[in-house]
Amino acid sequence: MAVSTKLNGAHDLPTPDPESPYRSRKPYRFSTLCATVDNPFAKDQYGSSSVPIYQTATFKGVAGEYDYSRSGNPTRSHLEHHIAKISSAGHAFAVSSGMAALDIITRLLKPGDEIIAGDDLYGGTNRLLTYLKTNGGVIVHHVDTTVPENILPHINPGKTAMVLLESPTNPLLKIVDLAKIAADVKERAPEAIIVVDNTMMSPYCQRPLEYGADIVYDSATKYLSGHHDLMAGIITCNRDDVAKQMAFIINSVGNALTPFDSFLLLRGSKTLAIRMDRQQSTAMHVATMLDRLGFKVNYPGLPNHPGREVHERIASGYGAVLSFTTGDKAMSERIVGATRLWGISVSFGAVNSLISMPCVMSHASIDAATRAARGLPEDLIRLCVGIEDPEDLLDDLEHALLEAGAITVTANADEHQYVRATTSISRAVEKLAVSEPRRPRERREWFVSAPGKVILFGEHAVVHGVTAVAASVDLRCYGLTTPRHDGKLSVKFCDIDDFYAEWDVDLLPWDAVTPVSIGEEHPEVLDQGLIDAISNRAMPADMEKYPKAKGAALAFLYLYMMMAHGGERPSFNFTARSTLPIGAGLGSSASFSVCAATALLLLHQRIDIPPLPAPTREPAGGDPGHVHVSHQGRRAIPPSVAEETNRWAFVAEKILHGNPSGVDNSVSVYGGALAYTRAGFGKKSGMEQISGFKSLRFLLTDSKVPRDTKKLVAGVSEKKEREPEVVNAILEAIQSISNEARRALADPELSRESLLSAISALIDENHAHLVSLGVSHASLEAIRAKTARDMYKLSTKLTGAGGGGCAVTLVPDDIREDVLQQLIAELLSDNFQPYLTSVGGSGLGILSPYGLNAPFTPPAETDTSESYVTREPLRATFQEKTGAELSEWAESRGRWLYV
Ligand code: PLP
Repeated sequence: MAVSTKLNGAHDLPTPDPESPYRSRKPYRFSTLCATVDNPFAKDQYGSSSVPIYQTATFKGVAGEYDYSRSGNPTRSHLEHHIAKISSAGHAFAVSSGMAALDIITRLLKPGDEIIAGDDLYGGTNRLLTYLKTNGGVIVHHVDTTVPENILPHINPGKTAMVLLESPTNPLLKIVDLAKIAADVKERAPEAIIVVDNTMMSPYCQRPLEYGADIVYDSATKYLSGHHDLMAGIITCNRDDVAKQMAFIINSVGNALTPFDSFLLLRGSKTLAIRMDRQQSTAMHVATMLDRLGFKVNYPGLPNHPGREVHERIASGYGAVLSFTTGDKAMSERIVGATRLWGISVSFGAVNSLISMPCVMSHASIDAATRAARGLPEDLIRLCVGIEDPEDLLDDLEHALLEAGAITVTANADEHQYVRATTSISRAVEKLAVSEPRRPRERREWFVSAPGKVILFGEHAVVHGVTAVAASVDLRCYGLTTPRHDGKLSVKFCDIDDFYAEWDVDLLPWDAVTPVSIGEEHPEVLDQGLIDAISNRAMPADMEKYPKAKGAALAFLYLYMMMAHGGERPSFNFTARSTLPIGAGLGSSASFSVCAATALLLLHQRIDIPPLPAPTREPAGGDPGHVHVSHQGRRAIPPSVAEETNRWAFVAEKILHGNPSGVDNSVSVYGGALAYTRAGFGKKSGMEQISGFKSLRFLLTDSKVPRDTKKLVAGVSEKKEREPEVVNAILEAIQSISNEARRALADPELSRESLLSAISALIDENHAHLVSLGVSHASLEAIRAKTARDMYKLSTKLTGAGGGGCAVTLVPDDIREDVLQQLIAELLSDNFQPYLTSVGGSGLGILSPYGLNAPFTPPAETDTSESYVTREPLRATFQEKTGAELSEWAESRGRWLYV
């Protein structure tokens, strides 16, 4: 926009004399007027180039122009003359601040007078108007003045004494058609005084006296002085009657500007035009950059600004204040905190660039409800552009946006290097989309647990499309979240070297994450960029010493960050304990993944614990799918929650294992026994609960030989490539074992005895195939040989990846107790660790937040957090209990809800 520099005021400098008939002289343009502080009627006695400071309170004599500085001072007179000249004004007054100016103006009002004022005014203006309303008997109508017609119903001839306008508004940069409103009001209530706060524009960009305003005032603390080194207000007007009254008030209350500040303001105003030119042009660059990045930017210079046309009619520049939203208050705070060149400060108009959040700074004096009612977003950032090098300003802002996670590097960096991170957009959208108010779940502990598993048939083959049969074991991982309220996130893994780590939530590498919005699924492939960012930037320095804990911590942080949405970053501790042997092939990692995923989904409010159904123990009329052999649990976790948890647990499993089958986490979530066929090649994962599964007893024996699952899985794949025919034949054989086992397990006609003998035979067969695949181990063969001895005659197979880890031995119902104990003793003496367990128990469990004696259905109001039971904190005892005591203690904490 071409800035007009013409003034049509009567206070143009006299054109140079004499004017020749051959060469006409044009009136001086704005910047010339600004820089030229001559007053032909007040020549300095010594011809000083700069107006001196008359630092005196009194003047001697009785006949002089000045007697007392409250009433008049030569330095101030020079300033006022100068301001009048550049404002198209007949009168100008310099006072102690912008608010002092408004105070003087509003003293023109009497009790009973009515004011029509904008609804998006400077906070201090609002405060003064509220004071007048409460204490001065003045009636104030706040109106959205961006629509001129809104004013009309409030014009009350004879009563409407003043109309107070601001354009553009601060900080939303809304445009008010000052000219139209002035004309409308004058037509209907000619006695009303039209007042304009012109601070956002300065006389350089906008001179409302030229189109109908009676009084214009500026906080000269801003552009007019330009250096933030003084407080001042100026009032200009063309009406002699009004000017006379205001002069009287200023003299009476004594808030005229001091000589020294008058000198400074005069000095600053000389460079107004040149400063504004630079500031506006940079503001346009900044607004364009933010707009291009996808933020909602408020700046009248942008082509998409709704008030641009009106603004261009009434002003000759766009100013240097703009604002934008990020969709997330916490993110806005981080952006503001991350800038270096942009100073965090209220106010604007100085040569230095400033950044602020109006809701917590300049507009904090307006209460939150009013702010909300007036559409002032809590996440709004205001930028006030200075005269620094535009490149430096853009660069600093870009860095801050990146550091705060508001933008991210594009995959296609050809055109623009950065794009707005989906975080903010999706957060904003999600905030709107969340129909239910968000509950402060951080206030309570969440206690969750999930079982381990044994693969009864089909391990390894499952990776290649064969159906596996897996069942939950009666050994579980427990996870407990405890609120922290200090902006930190911490984990404690009691059974992995008692590992503990904590993070400042805001210092996590948020720039690297593109969270998964609610309702969407995590992409099939892990985000390696985020994994690298967490590994390199968030892990404790000595993390390499704890390889197992490292994987668990990485998976936990990855899920935490991926789930963060809507600006929520809960601060809590997550403690995990396990009654399962870790890394023995019994699904300890899957049960950890399920616990962590569940806890995080609860804390991120992505899943809900629904009101309890009627107090029946099993769903009405249906086969429960599995028998709760281990828990008197209530099947109250709906399938949708189970599915969501399972999906996220699988993501964690991928981080821990690279290419897991998904069977472990599925069993851990669903419990019972599952026939699982792996997803792949476009087909969905097939998972069928083996209904009517009969609980079986197994002896699980940990060989205590550590294994490398990834390597074992890769070994089978390599073998398949080398000898496809051999391996495919084995895979086919395993598939028929699985089919046979499924049939037997689900067959209601089959006697218990026949079932056990069938399973026994299938166990031996399956183990033989696993040996052929090369995944057994001497320790496993030793366990197998021991259990097969004549006195036991039991069938054993390796379970899981093999290469060490665990073996499973089917324990017949009729085995003599002393024989069983002897076997256990022998295994122990060979330094193995046997666990006698049943399989097919409950899956994921969540300790009901509603308490044992709470009503089954929580109250209907939306915030059920209030109806959550208050419990003794669990964490200390949770950590203290021995492994043997843990399950019983956990069970006795209240009512557990199961999938
Ligand atoms: N009007 C506007 C638009 C302002 O932004 C301000 C101050 O920020 C004022 C008036 C008040 O000015 P002062 O702080 O000089 O009293």
